[in-house]
Amino acid sequence: MVAEIIAVGSELLTPRRAETNSLFISERLESVGISVRRKMVVGDREEALAESFLSALERSQVVLLSGGLGPTNDDITREAVARALGRPLHLDERILAQLRERYRRYGFEMTENNRRQAEVPEGAEAIPNPRGTAPGIFLREGEKLVFLLPGPPRELNPLMDSEVLPRLRRFLPVSRQFSRQLRVASLAESALDDRVGPLYQAYPEIETTVLSSLGIIDLFFHWRGEPDESRARGRLGRLVDEVRAELGGAVFAEGPEALEAVVGRELAERGLRIATAESCTGGLLGKLLTDVDGSSRYYLGGAVCYSDELKQSLLGVSARTLADHGAVSAETASEMAAGACRLSGAEVGLAVTGIAGPGGGSEEKPVGTVFFGLSLEGRVRSKRFRLPGDRDSVRTRSARMALDWVRRALA
Ligand code: ATP
Repeated sequence: MVAEIIAVGSELLTPRRAETNSLFISERLESVGISVRRKMVVGDREEALAESFLSALERSQVVLLSGGLGPTNDDITREAVARALGRPLHLDERILAQLRERYRRYGFEMTENNRRQAEVPEGAEAIPNPRGTAPGIFLREGEKLVFLLPGPPRELNPLMDSEVLPRLRRFLPVSRQFSRQLRVASLAESALDDRVGPLYQAYPEIETTVLSSLGIIDLFFHWRGEPDESRARGRLGRLVDEVRAELGGAVFAEGPEALEAVVGRELAERGLRIATAESCTGGLLGKLLTDVDGSSRYYLGGAVCYSDELKQSLLGVSARTLADHGAVSAETASEMAAGACRLSGAEVGLAVTGIAGPGGGSEEKPVGTVFFGLSLEGRVRSKRFRLPGDRDSVRTRSARMALDWVRRALA
């Protein structure tokens, strides 16, 4: 089964807005073994969209559109698709009632143009969107499956898992319905391949996909043998067990769970609270931790201390340490972590200090040198790494590695 994605929105054709929905959509499709054949970005013009949509429908079994479902005149996705398929739009009373209720709850009067959002092409199914007003739409056109999804990522992303994938699964060939995912952190792709490559070779009927992104590697295992459910489950289970046994603690999740969510769960289960002290990551560690709903149970907060002065005055790093070892050092990272605990009362203190580049490197400490400090219930330790990539990559990898260190330390 192959899919195409059409991102709708004139702003996505400007340099001011990056088109990211297709990245998320293709990642989730990949997890059930559907590959994306092509993607397009189309402005808010009905004829252009209708033309792109029909060409995608001709080529691919699944077409997903994102954006342009809102109430304003430049939101044309619903109309373009309905007209291209020759299906009139009908008002869905249930969606209309939900819209009214949503407006009432937020104390707004529902205006006439908002009714458009409750219109659904004939024969299509509205997909409730609890985080926004515009519902998604699912329709079948012969053998083809079409999804219209809201543009804002915070609305679209949860709908992919809760509404889109379950519908797609129903149409996947039996052999494709069985897949497993493992997530791995703090391991180089080449090292991983070396260790587990020989394992998959013993399972030729399982297709293995390895996707690596800034310190996190996703392994997808898709059954492509004969459609025999118990055999598929048995063989997939055995391969996953073997890979897990080989990789040990490097595996942090089975399924799509984020690293920060796993770390949060581990902390909450042990009744531990964490605080952060950051230099080169500039708050990214705190951002990742607070990306998780409910993180206030275990994340107390953090200090971004970029200057030496603030490292001293706020975190209590000693002038001596800074003079003897520098701000990017094991000693400073340790004192930062201990300082985060002292400042907040947390049982876990996590610190990052490094040289993200492109400037600031030296022979002894080249760009990409990062030190992590971890204070865990009074015991402080540090680690040094050399991370590849540009400034953004070094920062993202640093924040992820730091979190992963906490996870491993708690194991
Ligand atoms: P709304 O009801 O919010 O208008 P919509 O379905 O009409 O929903 P759009 O108006 O097309 O969505 O997009 C709303 C916002 O969502 C955009 O301004 C943009 O910030 C974001 N967005 C839309 N499409 C994408 C995309 N493909 N990638 C990243 N962000 C996007």
